[in-house]
Amino acid sequence: MQITVCDEHETAPARTFTISVDGGEPDEVDLCEQCARPLLDLIAKRRARESDAAAEPAPASSQRSAPARARKKAAAKKATATKSAAGRRAPRVTTMAEIEAKKQAAAEKDEQG
Ligand SMILES: [Zn+2]
Repeated sequence: MQITVCDEHETAPARTFTISVDGGEPDEVDLCEQCARPLLDLIAKRRARESDAAAEPAPASSQRSAPARARKKAAAKKATATKSAAGRRAPRVTTMAEIEAKKQAAAEKDEQG
């Protein structure tokens, strides 16, 4: 198991940076957190500036403590139109004609009886 140690301090953990100057031959340097900090700061600042310039689709995740503003859209309340009776079983409607017919049928039964 290999452990990367700082080139400067020979301490671990360290991270490997590949640096090239003016597009020259890249050098790999292992830097502990202390040594790497200035570089990381530079990178962070540059990225911040870039994302500022880009503006529009801000990733907004890694930058400082930008409060993630969760915009809640007020849930539009839909006036739930209660289906008046339509959904329910309609009460059976008996017409006068039907009643008369029943009466007559009953009367006939009686007569036949
Ligand atoms: Zn170091």
